[in-house]
Amino acid sequence: MAQAPARPASAVRLFDAHCHLQDPRVVAVAPALIRAATASGVARFAVNGTSEKDWHLVKQMADDHPAVVPCFGLHPWWVPERSPDWMDSLRRFFTETPEAAVGEIGLDKGSHGKTIDFGEQVEVFQRQLELAKELERPVSVHCVRAFGDLLEILKQSGPFPAGVLVHSYMGSAEMVSGLANIGCYFSLSGFLTGMKSTKAKQMPKSIPLDRILLETDAPDALPKLDDVSAPLVPVPSSDADTEKHHKDSESQVTTVSNESLNHPENIHTVLKFVASLLEMPEAELAELSYKNATKLFSYPGSKVYPEAEAI
Ligand SMILES: [Zn+2]
Repeated sequence: MAQAPARPASAVRLFDAHCHLQDPRVVAVAPALIRAATASGVARFAVNGTSEKDWHLVKQMADDHPAVVPCFGLHPWWVPERSPDWMDSLRRFFTETPEAAVGEIGLDKGSHGKTIDFGEQVEVFQRQLELAKELERPVSVHCVRAFGDLLEILKQSGPFPAGVLVHSYMGSAEMVSGLANIGCYFSLSGFLTGMKSTKAKQMPKSIPLDRILLETDAPDALPKLDDVSAPLVPVPSSDADTEKHHKDSESQVTTVSNESLNHPENIHTVLKFVASLLEMPEAELAELSYKNATKLFSYPGSKVYPEAEAI
C-alpha cells in the first residue's frame, strides 16, 4: 500500500464530522488515509453509511479504527434501491453497534435527487428521524434544495435532544436561524469553496459559534482552491485484485484518476478557508469546532462519550 508522505505534526486537533471512507473508490486505501489524517491532527472521523450495501463496511471500519465513529443510514439517492426489510436491517446494525449514530439520511431536490420520488424520500427520512429519536442518537442530515421541507419536517417530528447535524451546509444565511432555533448543528465542507463568494462570506457568520462543525465529506467535496495543494488519495498498488482493477481500467479508454477524490487530511484546507471567512484564528476555530463535534457525538455508548465528560 502506498505510504502517504510524512507531514509535520500539526498543533491543532480536528474532528471530521462527516465522511465516507467506506466508499468503494477509497475503501482499499482507507487505513492509509486514516493514518495520514490522524498524523496531521484529525482525532475523529464520523464515517457515514449510505445504503444497505455499505453498512457492514462502516461497522468493520469502526471495529478496526478507534478514531472512527460509525453512522448508519439510508441516503436519499439510494431510496429506490432499498429492500423491503431495509428498516429491520438498519435496526439490527444499531443493536449490534451501540456506539453508532444515525446518518446519512436526508432530502434531495438537486439534479440527481429530483429524479427520485420526493414522497418516498420523505417517508424514508421520517422513519429514520423517528429511529434517531427513539435511540437518542444524533443524526447527520443531507439537504439539497429542500430546506423549506427540511425545516417543516424537523419541526413536526422534533424535538431532537440528541442533535441534528445539517452536513455540508450550503443553504442561505437566512435559513440558519430557523434551523438553529430547533437545535441544528451545521458542518462546513470543501463544497463551500465553490460557493459564490458574497454568499460564502455571509453564511458562516450567521451560524452560532456553538453550532459550527467541520467535515471533509471525503472522498467527495474536494476543495477548489488554486493556492492550496491538497493531499491526494494514494493509488493502491500492492494487492493482486487492485492490479487487475488497474489493468481493466487501462484497457478502457477512460483512466480512473484519483485526482478528484478528497483526502480526509484536507480538513485542514476546510479549516483554513472557513477561518478566513469567519475572520477567526485557525487554532481557535479548530478547537471550537472540535468541542462542538465532541459534544454532538457524545451520547451514552459512543466512543467519544468519555472524552466529552472531560471537556
Ligand atoms: Zn455525505
